[in-house]
Amino acid sequence: MPELVFFSGTMDCGKSTLALQIGHNRSARGLQGVIFTRDDRAGEGKLSSRLGLVTEATEAAPGMDLHAYLVDRLSRGGRVDYVIVDEAQFLAPEQIDQLARVVDDLGLDVFAFGITTDFRTKLFPGSQRLIELADRIETLQVEAMCWCGARATHNARTVGGEMVVEGEQVVVGDVNGPAAEVGYEVLCRRHHRRRMTSVSAHAGALSPDVLPVAPPE
Ligand SMILES: [Zn+2]
Repeated sequence: MPELVFFSGTMDCGKSTLALQIGHNRSARGLQGVIFTRDDRAGEGKLSSRLGLVTEATEAAPGMDLHAYLVDRLSRGGRVDYVIVDEAQFLAPEQIDQLARVVDDLGLDVFAFGITTDFRTKLFPGSQRLIELADRIETLQVEAMCWCGARATHNARTVGGEMVVEGEQVVVGDVNGPAAEVGYEVLCRRHHRRRMTSVSAHAGALSPDVLPVAPPE
């Protein structure tokens, strides 16, 4: 039976790498897939992973009907054996419904990869709809780590390394972006709640008023 599978995780947990691996394994078996993505770090129409691999993809633009796109492609004699969607959290809920129709009406497997929650710990609308509709949800096994060494479960948005909690839900940035700009860092919940990024933790460690013991006389 074809399935709608949601592979979820934090940023930096290897989602895009797994998406590329699934595509590679299937094309090695002679299967042809369609890869959708939105706002990939490598630019429009690309699916890239942090390990440096890049492949061509179709940009799932706002308002695009993904089901109609695939029906059109099939009716022109194109071949589609499976569908991969990266950055699925950025899709509109209606587009997730379209993906469910691709599974049910076109009989194709759809593998969607996305972050569940935003920098304020709220579900992205696309991820919420995937949780509601998916046949199966897989939590990625390659776990990202907080600076403290604990399992990172939350995404923080940073400006100049300091965590911010206000702003638009979607601002494209990266975990390795320039320090002064909007970036992201994965944290454990404890440090997300305390707004302690690696930069602010380091600054705190250097500040004399939070030294755990008094300095020698
Ligand atoms: Zn931590």
